[in-house]
Amino acid sequence: MNALARRIARMIEMDGPISVGAFMMLALHDREMGFYATRESIGAAGAFVTAPEISQAFGELIGLWCAACWRDQGSTAATLLVDLGPGRGTLAADMLRALRRTPDFLNGLEVVLVEASAKLESVQRERLAGAPVSIRWVRRWDDIETDRPLFVIANEFFDALPIRQFVMTELGWCERMVTSQSDALAFALSPEAIRLNPDRGDAALGAVYEISPAAASLAEDIGRSIAANGGAGLIIDYGYEQRGFGDTMQAVRSHAYDDALAAPGEADVSAHVDFSALAHVIRRSGARAHGPLPQAGFLRDLGIEMRGQQLARGNPDHAADIEAAIARLVGVEAMGKLFKVMSIVPPHAPVPPGFC
Ligand code: SAH
Repeated sequence: MNALARRIARMIEMDGPISVGAFMMLALHDREMGFYATRESIGAAGAFVTAPEISQAFGELIGLWCAACWRDQGSTAATLLVDLGPGRGTLAADMLRALRRTPDFLNGLEVVLVEASAKLESVQRERLAGAPVSIRWVRRWDDIETDRPLFVIANEFFDALPIRQFVMTELGWCERMVTSQSDALAFALSPEAIRLNPDRGDAALGAVYEISPAAASLAEDIGRSIAANGGAGLIIDYGYEQRGFGDTMQAVRSHAYDDALAAPGEADVSAHVDFSALAHVIRRSGARAHGPLPQAGFLRDLGIEMRGQQLARGNPDHAADIEAAIARLVGVEAMGKLFKVMSIVPPHAPVPPGFC
């Protein structure tokens, strides 16, 4: 056991087994030993590479997407641009650079980055030192006052939010917990069954059912703000359109899959995003959800291939790399299909670019 596993095991010995979601939070966010607090998590040297780290065109197009939605909704004065989980700050830097072309939008913006990790915040501060607008950092979404039109981007953020898992047994649905057993962390089932709503009685023995109350409540909050004050949101992540059964929690360490419980803090732990659940709460909040669509169609519609060609012409020595990067973002075998995009707009706003 590593030091964080020992700390979690001591907690379990005192208070009993913890939910899978509580384990995820400790593994990712423990202040001293959590994955985001300690690791060079994102990029070629880290555990995984995200779309903005692959090509600058990704962030540029998303920046311009926000400006297009803003214009569609009548170009209101003061607006809020929020990046949820900004990673190394690359997405925000590329968005803001592209937005220099739409100064009317850029000048009215207050930019807020929501980052739980002090270490990543300092990486972002450095990356964004020359940004054309002032930027504020907060630790949690709840620290933001969403009293204006809100443009919010969440790229590979929702997959890091804690989930709960239930397993179908002879007794019914029992929650999957993390416990400590003969000097290792292990999965165990809660001895008492609970009722799910809807009850999903169609499940076979052993089926796993996942929910993410944290993801649902955040999506509902975003929807409520956009429905009331205007704006637009994009949730981009790997996930599924229709909720099924299955254990999607995964751990990635140095670009390879790992056992989630083996070395907490050393691997990225995440779960697939349930877009049907997000769409449901967004609609309930009064906003409109479009998608999810595969990332490939969305980015092509916004012109990523043209932007790639333009970048290649300006940088002929790297033309092949630039083309390969674009192909990675839209390729069916790469990120184009697995990653999905969902947008959130006010009820009477036009369908946003990329979703028509
Ligand atoms: N959007 C970025 C990075 C994705 S990695 C990109 O596309 O490159 C996930 C990011 O979310 C990291 O910056 C991580 O520290 C942050 N994060 C994860 N869970 C969080 C939480 N609950 N609250 C705030 N930030 C969180």
